[in-house]
Amino acid sequence: MRIEVEPRSGFCFGVENAISIAEQALLRGETVYSLGSIVHNEQEVERLVRLGLVTIDHKRLRELKNCRVLVRAHGEPPSTYITAAENNIEIIEATCPIVKRLQERIYKAGNETGEKMSQIVIFGKQGHAEVIGLLGQTRGKGILVSETTDIDVIDFNKPVTLYSQTTSSREKYHEIYLAIARGYKKLGKDPDTMIRLHKTICGQVADREPALLKFADSHDVIIFVSGKESSNGNMLFEACRSVNSESYMISAPAEIEGKWFEGKESVGISGATSTPKWLINDARKRIEEITDAGDRANR
Ligand code: SF4
Repeated sequence: MRIEVEPRSGFCFGVENAISIAEQALLRGETVYSLGSIVHNEQEVERLVRLGLVTIDHKRLRELKNCRVLVRAHGEPPSTYITAAENNIEIIEATCPIVKRLQERIYKAGNETGEKMSQIVIFGKQGHAEVIGLLGQTRGKGILVSETTDIDVIDFNKPVTLYSQTTSSREKYHEIYLAIARGYKKLGKDPDTMIRLHKTICGQVADREPALLKFADSHDVIIFVSGKESSNGNMLFEACRSVNSESYMISAPAEIEGKWFEGKESVGISGATSTPKWLINDARKRIEEITDAGDRANR
């Protein structure tokens, strides 16, 4: 059995950065609270819990006082920082710098007044932590669009400034742009002057997809290692499945089944941007054990 790990698999820069900040904070030996799960990967979270990380939600944040709370790579809205200041909570800032920059751009756009003032439209997944953080920068003025059918709330007499969640699909973002452009055309307005399009999808996810499609197509079986909650994990797994029907998503090596490799010659392993390299290596070891046992039985 030929086993290959996709070279680009493993944490993206933002998640790696957040985990390293958490590890450094935990070295001081005090409890560190993470507001929301630090990474959409149960195994990696368990490893950090063993080092002393405690995951909390926003309700718990409001109850805590005089402690340290880590803001994960997805970022948070301004209201979180206000709560922290009121409760004497020290924020450990681990927002991905790319997300931070996007928050700042949206905040600035929300300050525009007069003729320049336009509707701030954010394309993203409802309820996603990053999206909540981005919408929070607009002081209640942002419009969330998750599907082309959501664009009805836009006022096509006014301009639009369009942003996307960093982990969205480029294809879908383009579809949203086209749908909004059609809305302006219907009123005889020029979309080029009415829409200010910001290309805010992160290359760490989007650029992986084309390479992953080729990789998935070049193997008999694909094992995709990802937490079930990971947006980019689900998106990248669907990309694998679109070219290789023998693609399996697992969150732990123990889920790998021997029958998936019967009569197969090659297996490719990949994972989400929230999947640690060590977990991918563990998946590889498990496949080696299973297929080696199978190979020996066939000798
Ligand atoms: S996907 Fe990109 S923007 Fe999101 S955390 Fe990773 S590096 Fe940052």
